[in-house]
Amino acid sequence: MLKDSYGRYINNLRISVTDRCNFRCSYCMPEEGMVWMNKSELLTYEEIARITGIFAGLGITKIRLTGGEPLMRKDLHILVHMLAEVAGIKDLAMTTNGFFLNERAELLAKAGLKRINVSLDSLEALKFKEITRRDYLNRVLNGLETITSYGIRPVKINMVVMRDINDDEVTEFAILARTKPYVIRFIEFMPIGNNDGWRNEKVVPSKDIRERIERDLNLKLIPVEYHGTQPSDRYVFDDGHGEIGFISSVSEPFCEHCNRVRITSDGKLRTCLFSHHETDLKQLVRSGVDNDGIRKVIIDAVWKKEEGHLINRPEFVRPARTMSQIGG
Ligand code: SAM
Ligand code: SF4
Repeated sequence: MLKDSYGRYINNLRISVTDRCNFRCSYCMPEEGMVWMNKSELLTYEEIARITGIFAGLGITKIRLTGGEPLMRKDLHILVHMLAEVAGIKDLAMTTNGFFLNERAELLAKAGLKRINVSLDSLEALKFKEITRRDYLNRVLNGLETITSYGIRPVKINMVVMRDINDDEVTEFAILARTKPYVIRFIEFMPIGNNDGWRNEKVVPSKDIRERIERDLNLKLIPVEYHGTQPSDRYVFDDGHGEIGFISSVSEPFCEHCNRVRITSDGKLRTCLFSHHETDLKQLVRSGVDNDGIRKVIIDAVWKKEEGHLINRPEFVRPARTMSQIGG
């Protein structure tokens, strides 16, 4: 199994399939001026499947496809099918903005997608438009309904909570977790990319969100027993209806339990979202290095995985790439 020098076992790989996106979420990328990678720079589906096979041989069991917007990539269900066939992959998931789900849900479900996370930061049309710079709230809500109708479970909604922007909606989202078959995950706003508008004051600590929801709904949240190394702290309501989760990267970093690494759409292995160092797997694949050679490079890179991010420390420096270029 893949192990780093801090004794953490790595079984989770996030694969970005494109840096492109049809949204322009203010915290993720600037409104204009994004320069996209050339198609030839992106890993092909065959290359992604080969690299996934090598990772699976090293103990990776969980794959998440992301981007940019992964469904901007043509016929993504073909890749999903290829990855679902890789021996050892037990969990195949995707994070998406939900825009294309209406049309693509059936193909994705049939191809073997097991789980999905849809990003949604506001249930109010105007605010949704302000945050994403697109007027697509209804499409995303319809996409959520469609994917749910194909039996994919759990459907999770990722909400990035930002003070004085959308934190007034956390209880509305929690209610959604009680009335729909969705799990809501509240994500702390993270400093990543240079144009994200991040300031420490904009972060709403998970504890405050939890307390606010309990107060507003007059219910208690009970922690779900912690299994494995998922970054989200899971809670259920004490009346048995609804589950929510918290990703508290800023206020309660979970680096100690981190079990994941990432591959960017141009084939760079990153051992942390906040890494300043990447290992070029695409170059190895395209220069004819065999699987054994690539395996050795992966083992060596993972061994050097960072102890943790430094967000709360003065020496913290944001990565040069935006979240959409790294793969969120
Ligand atoms: N386009 C897809 C989507 O939006 O779901 C996948 C890529 S997106 C970069 C992945 C996740 O990263 C989304 O849930 C998004 O909200 C989150 N994200 C992006 N920038 C962030 C930031 N600065 N802080 C916290 N989460 C962020
Ligand atoms: Fe696109 Fe996702 Fe970034 Fe929003 S968060 S701009 S949907 S990649």
